Amino acid sequence: MMENNTDKCKYLGAIHAHTLHSDGTGDINSISKTAKKAGLSWVIITDHNNFDVQEGIINGIYVIKGEEISPDYGNHYIALGINELIDHSDNCQDNIYAVKSKGGFGFAAHPDESEIRNNSFSPLKWTDKNVIPDGVEIWNLFSQWGDNYNDSNIFTIAYSYLFKQNLITKPYKKTLDWWDELNNKNSKIVPAIAGSDAHELKITKYIIPVKILSYAYSFKTILNQIHLNKPLSKDFKQAKEQILNAVKNGNNIIVNLSLCKKIPNIYILNNNSKVQCGETLKLDNDTYINVECKRKIKITVVKDGTKINTTNSKNLKLKLSESGKYRVETELNGKGFAYSNPIIVED
Ligand SMILES: [Zn+2]
Ligand SMILES: [Zn+2]
Repeated sequence: MMENNTDKCKYLGAIHAHTLHSDGTGDINSISKTAKKAGLSWVIITDHNNFDVQEGIINGIYVIKGEEISPDYGNHYIALGINELIDHSDNCQDNIYAVKSKGGFGFAAHPDESEIRNNSFSPLKWTDKNVIPDGVEIWNLFSQWGDNYNDSNIFTIAYSYLFKQNLITKPYKKTLDWWDELNNKNSKIVPAIAGSDAHELKITKYIIPVKILSYAYSFKTILNQIHLNKPLSKDFKQAKEQILNAVKNGNNIIVNLSLCKKIPNIYILNNNSKVQCGETLKLDNDTYINVECKRKIKITVVKDGTKINTTNSKNLKLKLSESGKYRVETELNGKGFAYSNPIIVED
């Protein structure tokens, strides 16, 4: 959708979904139909240690395949921009190198799953924070639900299914801190994504069979809005490159769309030209970070990992006078809403 001449073209999509080729329960025909119905433009499928799903324009959705490289014990790695299956190693550094050597890039998946759980699913974490991925999945829907799912008794189970949105809070501080730390160590952008981790697991052990986090629900919740210089190509190969480049460069905002359908605009206005997430600009004496939203939200500006401004408002226009990496976090009613990738301001 084009907003106007000065705005980039923005497209909503989901990253990290599983199909019948691994532990998901949907095929690509039904998943793409569901994504279309949810209003998405694109979906990135990442089956565990599998690269068999079909890609292309399917039911009006750009379906791109990656792989979730999944050692048994954790260190799952979302590998994108690859053209073949990467055999998984138990050494996550080897997996990172393997993806790079095939021309791809990757994101540490659900790096901080909780160890303290009221259920029988064991957490899968990124075990060694000194092993540096290309990017970080800062928010994972399925994983956060799993962290908060309580299967102690029938009431807590029912609550987890019926009020699933209450189990979804905000990205973990630990993960955001790690992401900031990686950005502080790197002159370029270390990008972040949101992961749906959509499986639509079907559990039949209860009287009424239940679906855990359906594809339909997942595709309306924690998503990525990419910003492009021009509209998505009608040609799949070109569009795929546009989407993957945007994700690789951090030209995306991470959003919980279930809180509010109007995604805030987050950008820097530099001498009247708009600079979007993942981009770089030269500091001017007319440089402002801007946030615009239809609702009153809590807006926090983070510079090089430090919070420098917090305000409750529909809008923020903050003059910048120092170089650094700036990003914005927003909350709505105490819940995580929209998170920008950093913008680099140079002297
Ligand atoms: Zn995983
Ligand atoms: Zn997954």
